[in-house]
Amino acid sequence: MDTKYIFVTGGVVSSLGKGVATSSIGLLLKSYGLKVTLQKIDPYINVDPGTMNPYQHGEVFVTKDGAECDLDLGHYERFLNESLTRNNNITTGQVYYSVISKERRGEYLGKTVQVVPHITDEIKARMRKVSEENNVDVVITEIGGTVGDIEGQPYLEAARQMRLDHGDENTLYIHLTLVPFIKAAREFKTKPTQHSVRELRAIGIQPDILLCRSDSWLTSDERKKISLFCNVPQKAVIDAIDVECIYEIPLIFHQQELDELILDGLNIEEREADLAEWELFVQRAKSPSRVVEIAVCGKYVELRDAYKSIIEALSHAAVANDARLKMKWIDTDRIEDDVALENALAMVNGILVPGGFGMRGVEGKVRIVKYARERQKPFLGICLGMQCLVIEFARNVCGMKGANSTEFDDGTAYPVIDLLPEQKKVKNMGGTMRLGDWECLLESKTLARKIYGKDKVLERHRHRYEVNPKYIKALSEKGLIFSGKSANGKLMEIAELNKHPFFVGTQFHPEFTSRPLSPNPIFYQFIKSSLEKL
Ligand code: GLN
Repeated sequence: MDTKYIFVTGGVVSSLGKGVATSSIGLLLKSYGLKVTLQKIDPYINVDPGTMNPYQHGEVFVTKDGAECDLDLGHYERFLNESLTRNNNITTGQVYYSVISKERRGEYLGKTVQVVPHITDEIKARMRKVSEENNVDVVITEIGGTVGDIEGQPYLEAARQMRLDHGDENTLYIHLTLVPFIKAAREFKTKPTQHSVRELRAIGIQPDILLCRSDSWLTSDERKKISLFCNVPQKAVIDAIDVECIYEIPLIFHQQELDELILDGLNIEEREADLAEWELFVQRAKSPSRVVEIAVCGKYVELRDAYKSIIEALSHAAVANDARLKMKWIDTDRIEDDVALENALAMVNGILVPGGFGMRGVEGKVRIVKYARERQKPFLGICLGMQCLVIEFARNVCGMKGANSTEFDDGTAYPVIDLLPEQKKVKNMGGTMRLGDWECLLESKTLARKIYGKDKVLERHRHRYEVNPKYIKALSEKGLIFSGKSANGKLMEIAELNKHPFFVGTQFHPEFTSRPLSPNPIFYQFIKSSLEKL
């Protein structure tokens, strides 16, 4: 079978959930036994989101091969239950970088280098590269942004050309659009969708399928109208209604036979879908028997997207523990005194301090660690969260007054967290942290070892600082257990305390490897301990 290419575009407004829709289609096709990969295009000029502020972009997702990627890659991995690589995320920065480098090497043989065909050729080459590299049957490419954006145009043009290159039966265009319900008129409005499809057609793309985001089911009249004006068969006007649990979306698409429509459009022979495991997960997610409340304490709490993988990892672990996840968001920059701290945290079952950069909110995090340690509240610190755990322990248990990370105070008398040696010479900020999969060896007779049930794990990283080797002895003597270490034994990967229900810090990011069908063991145990504290 030839490789099939599906393109997912978005219309009307952003934030319609294109990443989840793309992931859902990927999962559905995979359930037919097809080999599928998903690719995200981000039309911004940054080479990757690694240097962007979370307020600009949300979370930076890290792949096993150490690429700093768009958060949609996280959805892709969670729905496909597979790990992807740097080639699954394309940005304009990367495309131009490579075209300009080729031009400097003289590879364009005297030609004028232009958006069409040189930039579009480079884009198409990257679309094909993911298919060859993974030897897949289907590549689903999600084009970020909204149709009509200036910066998205070369990608839409490349997607248009892909049909010329690969033929009708090997390409499919799916457009996700908004169908708003106007309360005053008590009706759905299809005009924005008509406009956005018209915009696509102007570039030469006639969508084959429309996914209509709406807050309730469309009537058959509305469907007819959209079909007529957008030149799409009625059965290809699919409802993408709002749901409580994103993992239900594939099932909602399946119910409307979107998968069959796609197989048909791509001329893939009839097969049976196997969604049993997924259905079971969704069922469990929707009817848990208890509630677990976790406080997530960070400085970007107004933007939930900044903690996407953490929210998902917590929810996978909650489902596995038969619990509904309730989250309490604590802005660590706004913890004024102990009374405020007590008020915020007294009723929660567990406390999580996620990763982060920069000084703002750090003192609040350190106080939260102290509270969790003294009050025996289950606590999970991730990356910066682990570093705060070490700072707190150094200050309040080891008596190292003013202990800190040199990231926040380079004159501290006790630099218990310091730059990794290899980071000292780093000048460029982009893509230079300690990134991606690194092995972590687990010490016997520790909680970490018990949680993972093995002595070696691979987890994903994104940091420049580490526990300063000079203080390991002093910290250990006072009872901090370094239960996970890098393969050469030099770098502290996990810190924990005994005589506490759950007090764990990880230098890596366990949230990136959590999947609905296989929650990360650290998150699983964190939730389990939090429930036991009830
Ligand atoms: N800022 C810290 C470091 O670079 C923590 C990074 C993180 O939490 N991802 O080590």
